[in-house]
Amino acid sequence: MFTLIDLPYKSLAPVISDQTLSFHHGKHLQAYVDNLNKLIAGTAFEGKSLEEIIVLSSGAKAGAEKVPAVFNNAGQILNHELYFLQFAPGGSVPAGSLAAQIEKQWGSLEAFQAAFEAKGVGLFGSGWAWLQADAAGELSIAQYAGADNPVAHGLKPLLTFDVWEHAYYLDYQNRRAAHLHELWKIVDWGVIEERYTK
Ligand code: MN
Repeated sequence: MFTLIDLPYKSLAPVISDQTLSFHHGKHLQAYVDNLNKLIAGTAFEGKSLEEIIVLSSGAKAGAEKVPAVFNNAGQILNHELYFLQFAPGGSVPAGSLAAQIEKQWGSLEAFQAAFEAKGVGLFGSGWAWLQADAAGELSIAQYAGADNPVAHGLKPLLTFDVWEHAYYLDYQNRRAAHLHELWKIVDWGVIEERYTK
């Protein structure tokens, strides 16, 4: 049985309003959790981790059949857990090996952020912008549609911005770019660094 994660903060306003946070966490994420629990009850997916379910249901593994409903709900749970747990009121700046790698690949944090925002803005329809790492620690920015994510592609997910309209429409209406630009103010880079180095 999967359960809804608790948020490690009370508010992320004004970057994300309390109303958006409440609906996004309490309604949207809760629905993905409820859906997945129903879908996998009594199946071979039951008892497996989200990462295992995502890989198995993606159809990428030899002998494993693609199960889109399971993939979509498991993916959305993992994506939202990574999303909500990477924020903290006031945010922080990158440090350590991740900061050095960003500098090495993009030249500066500002250049990285501009490239990341552009990937989010340029994603047609619903999906997620990602910072991901390969086994050698090389970083890349990606956009994946729907519930798709780096785990399904054998990569490590580090940072993600949700560009489904439910993530920003109450606060920013159609101004996705403005919303993504504001999100840097609440990114807790200590969490991202931990994901990178573990
Ligand atoms: Mn969402």
